[in-house]
Amino acid sequence: MTTRNLFLLPGDSIGPDAMGEVRKIIAFMNEEMSAGFTTDEGLVGGCAYDAHGAAISEADMQKALSADAVLFGAVGGPKWDDVPYEVRPEAGLLRLRKDLELFANLRPAICYPALAAASSLKPELVEGLDILIIRELTGGVYFGEPKTITDLGNGQKRAIDTQVYDTYEIERISAVAFEMARTRQNRVCSMEKRNVMKSGVLWNQVVTATHKDKYSDVKLEHMLADAGGMQLVRAPKQFDVIVTDNLFGDMLSDVAAMLTGSLGMLPSASLGAPDGKTGKRKALYEPVHGSAPDIAGKGIANPIAMIASFAMCLRYSFAMLKEADNLEKAIANVLDQGTRTADIMSVRAKKVGTLEIGCAILSDLKALSASYST
Ligand code: NAD
Repeated sequence: MTTRNLFLLPGDSIGPDAMGEVRKIIAFMNEEMSAGFTTDEGLVGGCAYDAHGAAISEADMQKALSADAVLFGAVGGPKWDDVPYEVRPEAGLLRLRKDLELFANLRPAICYPALAAASSLKPELVEGLDILIIRELTGGVYFGEPKTITDLGNGQKRAIDTQVYDTYEIERISAVAFEMARTRQNRVCSMEKRNVMKSGVLWNQVVTATHKDKYSDVKLEHMLADAGGMQLVRAPKQFDVIVTDNLFGDMLSDVAAMLTGSLGMLPSASLGAPDGKTGKRKALYEPVHGSAPDIAGKGIANPIAMIASFAMCLRYSFAMLKEADNLEKAIANVLDQGTRTADIMSVRAKKVGTLEIGCAILSDLKALSASYST
């Protein structure tokens, strides 16, 4: 029987609540579908700092490195606001991204019809929205050197961040974008600022060359990143796959997040390069939201972003396409039935907590899986 090794890092605050709902889905898939998942669990973020004085221990890093996929909840909270910078909760996530070399961050922005009214845009602009933002995650201005604040000695300081990209970094992220587009509507829009940034000029050249070389069947468009931000809120449905750098991707994916209604709905995947021998990619799946300390312990967190992250894991790490589709369909069905957590509540809906919506999704998944297997 196939074994699929998952390493679970629930993290802090609402992270464990959301992960609890995924754990039930994993158990169901093992019991009823012989999915062969084995799970191990570790600490990350504030809870890891409390236990080990680090945002993730070396032992847990090793487990993350050897797993087929890592499922990550959320980290942080006011309790750890004053811990040293190097061991702050978010350092655990950055270490995972760096050591697993997760250079491609996939953030789908899907607007379920039932939630179109929860978007800050008009429902007709977002209903049925399904775009995928692919953000370069390990390069660019967040990591470039020098990165300093220097005292100029005259009462002034100078801060420097460096935006830097090499050809191979742009080639591999654009290859991911073109490959993903082939499984969708076959369209990629690349965004940069070639009008004012040298890194934008190179980005544009390399994306164009990669397209010409291997992916000319995919429709490619280029857009300046600021214009792209405007188009995302003017007519978001014009896009299929957007590929962009670390900084612009950070901002544009948050803009896209608002189109879908709530942070509690947004999954993400971070992928590494395929292994030369097995073709498997290192991968980490996590909701986009943080640890939501304002609702910690209340049992009202929306677990859908975490559950949808697991659906991405089924699709991208294990090629369990039917199972991923069914899980996403179960989420859509439950929303259609008007079952909602507080963050996505609407007038005639039924307000429930984390456990209830998790159970509703699981029971819909069971029904969908039964009809699939007969
Ligand atoms: P946040 O995403 O935690 O919360 C923003 C708002 O959205 C809050 O009102 C929260 O209640 C709500 N929200 C978020 N997720 C929700 C869910 N699943 N269900 C219902 N409501 C939800 O962002 P923040 O408040 O800026 O940050 C809180 C903490 O999380 C900070 O310590 C921050 O550093 C950390 N953080 C962690 C990650 C991560 O783990 N990847 C990401 C962002 C922020």
